Amino acid sequence: MRRGLLVVISGPSGVGKDTVIHRLLELDPNLTYSVSGTTRKPRPGEKPDENYTFLTPREFDDLVARGAFLEHATYNGNLYGTFRDRVERTRDAGRDIVLKIDVQGAEQVRRLMPDAILIFVVAPSDEELRHRQEGRGSESVQDLASRRQIAEREMTFVSHYDHVVTNDDVERAAREILGLIQRARERQT
Ligand code: 5GP
Repeated sequence: MRRGLLVVISGPSGVGKDTVIHRLLELDPNLTYSVSGTTRKPRPGEKPDENYTFLTPREFDDLVARGAFLEHATYNGNLYGTFRDRVERTRDAGRDIVLKIDVQGAEQVRRLMPDAILIFVVAPSDEELRHRQEGRGSESVQDLASRRQIAEREMTFVSHYDHVVTNDDVERAAREILGLIQRARERQT
């Protein structure tokens, strides 16, 4: 049986990664989303074990000590990590898995799994990104400011990725990513 692909999606905060991934998963039910662990507090509407597995810092540290994470990183003061067993089980079952992780996590995945497909999602312009970040409204002024700073730093990592996809339109961006995944599937066979 074919081993599932590992698809990494990164991009600056507010660019619309969640919406694009949501549409991508609707377009291709053969894709599985890797639900990460985080110490961040849930945003309104976020569901445990659907958006994230919400953990205390202590629980997170215990999992790190047990080697439960494939990669983990600190982002804006909170810890985030990819569950190793969720990824391995999915790939072993021949299913492709999508990870939404930051640039630090992507670097770790690239080192551990050089066959991973790394995709960076960008906004059509800086103005549009700022507009989307402000429109989200789920973060405090301080949180928004530090996420913007991180986003600027993250943009310098674009060249480390295999593909750059502009989220000018959710449907178009999701279909472009699906096309990249389909081409990778064809290369496997
Ligand atoms: P948010 O708090 O907005 O959901 O996510 C903040 C950042 O953490 C985003 O860049 C997101 O891609 C990243 N992130 C989410 N899950 C993980 C993970 O498991 N590992 C790493 N390294 N980053 C993650």
